[in-house]
Amino acid sequence: MYMFDVLVIGGGNAALCTALVAREAGASVLLLEAAPKEWRGGNSIHTRNIRSMHDAPQDVLLDAYSEEEYWQDMLKVTGGLTDEKLARFVIRSTSNCRGWMQKHGVRFQPSLSGTLNLSRANAFFMGGGKALVNAYYRSAEQLGIEIRYNSPVDSLDVEDGQFRAAYVGGTRIEAKACVLAAGGFESNREWLDEAWGINELGERPAKNFLIRRTRFNNGVLLKQLLGICADSVSDATQAHMVAVDARAPLYDGGICARVDCVSFGIVVNKHAQRFSDEGEDFWPKRYAFWGRLVAHQPSQIGYSIIDSKVLGRFMPPVFPGEKADTLEELADKLGLDREDLLATVANYNAACRVGTFDHTAMDDCHTEGIEPAKTHWALPIDQGPFYGYTLKPGVTFTYLGLKTDETAAVRFNGEASRNLFVAGEMMAGNVLGKGYAAGVGMAIGTAFGMAAGAEAAKSVFGKRGEKYAAA
Ligand SMILES: Cc1cc2nc3c(=O)[nH]c(=O)nc-3n(C[C@H](O)[C@H](O)[C@H](O)COP(=O)(O)OP(=O)(O)OC[C@H]3O[C@@H](n4cnc5c(N)ncnc54)[C@H](O)[C@@H]3O)c2cc1C
Repeated sequence: MYMFDVLVIGGGNAALCTALVAREAGASVLLLEAAPKEWRGGNSIHTRNIRSMHDAPQDVLLDAYSEEEYWQDMLKVTGGLTDEKLARFVIRSTSNCRGWMQKHGVRFQPSLSGTLNLSRANAFFMGGGKALVNAYYRSAEQLGIEIRYNSPVDSLDVEDGQFRAAYVGGTRIEAKACVLAAGGFESNREWLDEAWGINELGERPAKNFLIRRTRFNNGVLLKQLLGICADSVSDATQAHMVAVDARAPLYDGGICARVDCVSFGIVVNKHAQRFSDEGEDFWPKRYAFWGRLVAHQPSQIGYSIIDSKVLGRFMPPVFPGEKADTLEELADKLGLDREDLLATVANYNAACRVGTFDHTAMDDCHTEGIEPAKTHWALPIDQGPFYGYTLKPGVTFTYLGLKTDETAAVRFNGEASRNLFVAGEMMAGNVLGKGYAAGVGMAIGTAFGMAAGAEAAKSVFGKRGEKYAAA
């Protein structure tokens, strides 16, 4: 039976970057994608951009976004739960990976109007992540990478930390090296439920979570590897979690279900009480926190409420929210207690200290004397019609993953495997212990996908330790 040099498990951005680089380095490559062809590409097909370091304006990127500023952003959003060496490795990789991406057919465009504060730091994919994934698959086919769809790997044969083979159903597939790029465990609702357990109200929060994309990232291999003492990072409750429209489907609501008006109004829970600072930071650095904040509220539900003054300042949700001429009517439509909502809004309005409103800057409109404070963009909610959106936690991807270093090697009791590597969501927790900044998922997947591909090829050709230079 023919043995491939490098086996890549997964079919999203990280897997494709891995496969392409390994092939460019001369390895024969087999890629196994769990999904059927029409659903290929994992979470990556829903993406829009990659956060990119640059020292001067580039084609679609304005001004500069230095390594230091990028790093400070990472430090802030993760609250220090990040590995500086690996975070800087990712940051630096984003300064020169776009040429390689373009070589494989990815096209970029300036940010769309309404995408707040991203035109400087983030390069947008023309046609979105779907076009990126399609371009990579086309390139992979042209380069002779073998791709098998409908091929979920259900277990690995690993001996003394070294990869021997993968199993798809009863079929054993051997390779000289293997790269795991099979996503997190966000689609595995039982595992999410086990991780989140029961809250102080006796509820099982994870029962109310929606999954923003693929149903194929079940974490089967992550679980197996953790079971055989692969070194791990982060914990099972940490994830990129967005507060999404509660009407979104259980899987694959994608970007359509996002509600981006949080910083322009207030968010209340089912008791019509505010519970967090809606104006803490720019939305791209906060949106991935709100799913978790809502997950900690009773019944895991929230309500984003705005007035007419702020319409047109954010990307409008695809699905219209509730609209009402009065707050009483809005409360009725959202199923909130009228008196409680009126009291919350009245307190908030009275606390607003309006300076010069500027949604493109950390402005001076803030509240005084209420808890929680709203520290920026605090305008009274007083101009009808009013709008309300019901929110649920939407899990994008989980952070519990495999510990690694710049070589992307999986580690067992601190020892790096010689031929088993990891990229993408399966190791994102090395960089993202918690929190998120828009565009970092694709940055991690691209940087470590390319590194894993190079290292896997080198392990086959006996050249580990040499530096890979993308052609
Ligand atoms: C709606 C949405 C919007 C997003 N927008 C952005 C954005 O604009 N910028 C950004 O940086 N990030 C964004 N992200 C996050 C981003 O999608 C991920 O960080 C990134 O795509 C992860 O890439 P990956 O290759 O690790 O995982 P995925 O793209 O999820 O790929 C995992 C692959 O593994 C396959 N697989 C799973 N289990 C197995 C198995 N056992 N055997 C074989 N194959 C298996 C899956 O089918 C899938 O193809 C977004 C995510 C979502 C859901």
